[in-house]
Amino acid sequence: MTFRILALPGDGIGPEVVAVARRVLEALAAPEDLALAWQEALIGGAAIEAEGVPLPDATLEAALEADAVLLGAVGGPRWEGLPGVRRPEAGLLQLRRALEVFANLRPIRTRPALAGHTPLKPEVVAGTDMLFVRELTGGLYFGDKGRDRRGAYDLCRYETEEIERVVRLAARLARERRGRLTLIDKANVLETSRLWREVTRDLIAREFTDLDFEVLLVDAAAMLLIREPSRFDVIVTENLFGDILTDEAGVLAGSLGLVPSASLGGDTGPGLYEPIHGSAPDIAGRGIANPIGMLESLALMLDRSMRRPDLAARLSTAIDRVLEAGILPADLGGTATTADIEEAVLAHLSLPAEPAAAG
Ligand code: NAD
Repeated sequence: MTFRILALPGDGIGPEVVAVARRVLEALAAPEDLALAWQEALIGGAAIEAEGVPLPDATLEAALEADAVLLGAVGGPRWEGLPGVRRPEAGLLQLRRALEVFANLRPIRTRPALAGHTPLKPEVVAGTDMLFVRELTGGLYFGDKGRDRRGAYDLCRYETEEIERVVRLAARLARERRGRLTLIDKANVLETSRLWREVTRDLIAREFTDLDFEVLLVDAAAMLLIREPSRFDVIVTENLFGDILTDEAGVLAGSLGLVPSASLGGDTGPGLYEPIHGSAPDIAGRGIANPIGMLESLALMLDRSMRRPDLAARLSTAIDRVLEAGILPADLGGTATTADIEEAVLAHLSLPAEPAAAG
């Protein structure tokens, strides 16, 4: 069966990193005799320029028919003056909603070779290996919003079912990892958080008594993330807190440019895979974008949607080896260009798959 990938390069460095992902995927697929169909479509600012809207109907249709969607990034200064619903970012929100990808997985680890490349002490970040599961299609970002004469409002609403499905997915993932699950909320102030806490506690008591479960308030969690990051395994949280905390946690990886994500829904429908960084307009077109967040997103796609964990592991191991060899892009203080990283990853893909000694 042919696996259908819809690539949405988007804006800024998006097309640069998506092009790398395509070539690396082709190199991985070639010896495997995998049947892949690669299609590209417009989203974000590029779609606004060509079609006047950030998510054209043709893009949405192609996404709904695909087995997986691979997205670069959207947005940029050119479109910042547009009203909210016509901005590039609105196209991405519409896409997530239409694909019903309610869970955004963001794995964050500190590779030994990069422990000295974060602003924190190497001994603090050592051993960091966490998986954020951020609720993606509810809460403040999707609630009623507007302005009146005196101000503005954004409504935060969560339904029990929306909470339960994402917590269940996070709990299953915790079971596959080290068995620890942390719920982050603000239950001392917010009613939606109190519902999150009730629903999560009930679900854990019913179905996941084997897990080591804890709850943290978001303010305390923000501090613990950088004071004691290795204490975390799987973290589940609502949309806004997840958005903010995962950028904070991105620092633990060494750079935002390294962090991938997978957005998943139910068992049917495509997954959406994208690096967590934006379109980086300050470096777009200079050939220095770090493609690793995109390549790790590709690894998540290979694992979750293509059901080829072996190929995912080969790719991640190749990336580890490139970084251990000291081939570092500009956002990690190195001089390697996007093309240098691609070439090095391709070279390491063809080596045997045993992990290299940790540096
Ligand atoms: P950004 O992530 O684009 O950039 C932040 C900083 O990190 C910049 O200095 C940038 O050069 C650097 N950076 C990011 N990714 C990098 C990479 N792969 N390699 C090297 N350096 C990298 O965030 P921003 O500057 O706040 O936003 C720029 C635009 O992107 C805005 O329009 C924003 O709305 C949009 N955005 C889009 C997404 C998305 O598409 N998912 C996510 C965040 C921001």
